[in-house]
Amino acid sequence: MHKNPILDIQNINKIYKSAGKSLTVLHQINFSISKGSTVAITGPSGSGKTTLLGLCAGLDQPTSGEIILNSHPLSGRSEDELAAIRNQNIGFIFQNFQLMPTLTALENVMVPMELRGEKNIRNYALDLLDKVGLADRADHYPVQLSGGEQQRVSLARAFSNKPAILFADEPTGNLDGETSDKIEKLLFELNTQAGTTLVIVTHDMELAAKTGRIIRLKSGEILSDEVQSSAKASLLNS
Ligand code: ADP
Repeated sequence: MHKNPILDIQNINKIYKSAGKSLTVLHQINFSISKGSTVAITGPSGSGKTTLLGLCAGLDQPTSGEIILNSHPLSGRSEDELAAIRNQNIGFIFQNFQLMPTLTALENVMVPMELRGEKNIRNYALDLLDKVGLADRADHYPVQLSGGEQQRVSLARAFSNKPAILFADEPTGNLDGETSDKIEKLLFELNTQAGTTLVIVTHDMELAAKTGRIIRLKSGEILSDEVQSSAKASLLNS
């Protein structure tokens, strides 16, 4: 049991049903994640990583089991309740960015703050775009941005929630080396400077090695769950 868990996953099973067939994608998953820690979830394609991340973030419901996110049990909640919990507690960086195509970079960053009914958010959103090096792209639409730039907008949008926990699905996949280094740096700064817990799904073992703990999935089960005591030290020295 971890002290101060921000995320507690209890006996999770996920079964997808389609065309009369059922597919068990996650089987008896248990773990908890401490506040302020960094965790990588790795495993082969199809092992259930994206499904698990979506459940942890309240984007989908498990078939059985309980998830407690920052003291909020997620089972039995309506879509609206889940959306409110997400909005107040998490940031999510999707594999394919998921920016809104009809909104500019700046407007995309402002969306979560608008949803929370915050006022005077424009300057804060501009600051966030500046932090990810995109102040001069504020009025560009997603199609006018490169993949790396879109990922940085998606990061700024996730930061705008000042989330207690940030979930990232392959945040550096599809990006060139230099851009992925920048994204990594931003993620870990958020952890060290704001105390945001990071949960990162990645195939990139170099990125995973920089986190404090690696959970490996295989065929929907936890194959290993290892704390890496030297990760922080090597990150600070790099
Ligand atoms: P990973 O992220 O490790 O590649 P996923 O969580 O995306 O794994 O998928 C795990 C398994 O669940 C795969 O076999 C995939 O085809 C299946 N799957 C994912 N989403 C759905 C869905 N909405 N309906 C049915 N099967 C799904």
